[in-house]
Amino acid sequence: MLTSTSRVALITAVATLAAALVATTAEARTRRKKKQRAPVTQPRRNNMPVGWTWPPSKAMVAVGKACTGELDALGIAWKAAPRERKVATPITLPVMELGGVKLVSVYRRGPHVMDCHLVLVLARHLPALHAIGVRELNFSRIHAYTNVRVNGGEKRALSRHALGLAIDIRSFVDQDGRKAIVLDDYPLGDKLLLDAEQTLTDGGGFRTILTPRNDPKSHDDHFHLEVRVDYSKAPAPRKPAT
Ligand SMILES: [Zn+2]
Repeated sequence: MLTSTSRVALITAVATLAAALVATTAEARTRRKKKQRAPVTQPRRNNMPVGWTWPPSKAMVAVGKACTGELDALGIAWKAAPRERKVATPITLPVMELGGVKLVSVYRRGPHVMDCHLVLVLARHLPALHAIGVRELNFSRIHAYTNVRVNGGEKRALSRHALGLAIDIRSFVDQDGRKAIVLDDYPLGDKLLLDAEQTLTDGGGFRTILTPRNDPKSHDDHFHLEVRVDYSKAPAPRKPAT
């Protein structure tokens, strides 16, 4: 026979145990739910540029306007392109040449839609490549709605190509017309390719430069350049010319 005190104690113990069980299963269920709810098509936010939202925020539109203003100031002809998904400031170049370096597409016909910021950073940094003898870049891809590919795998995150902010370069042509191909000539220590890699890295204009050196699995045949953009602050408007 249980005394009334021990009966109360037993009931309390059973109730506590039951409550704990309920809590544990509820927790497990939430965990499972969370797992199931892991983004499948949604890009990871933290991989996006600072301040990036879609559709573009007012600040992003202002940042884009400031960018095309910079192109105007540099005397670079550009055309607004039709809206492309996830490209904040889509433009095309009537003449695909920046800083004395021609941009030549390997596979696709133009027009090649780019975000203004890719054009602006190339315009600022290609003169340094020109100085080491580069006259032409042969690119395989600029805008494409793709995920990040590194180390032989694909990440569940939109690549900067999807934003029109990246370019893949397959080969570099020098002033004598010699073509240095990343796939064939980089492993041989081709000077033009190594100099180009060093120059672009030193210039600091690009967020990530992936090459056969740092990503031999996914970047054995091209250099991947992508630009850094901060969309969080709308720039101060340009002072009108006086
Ligand atoms: Zn790329």
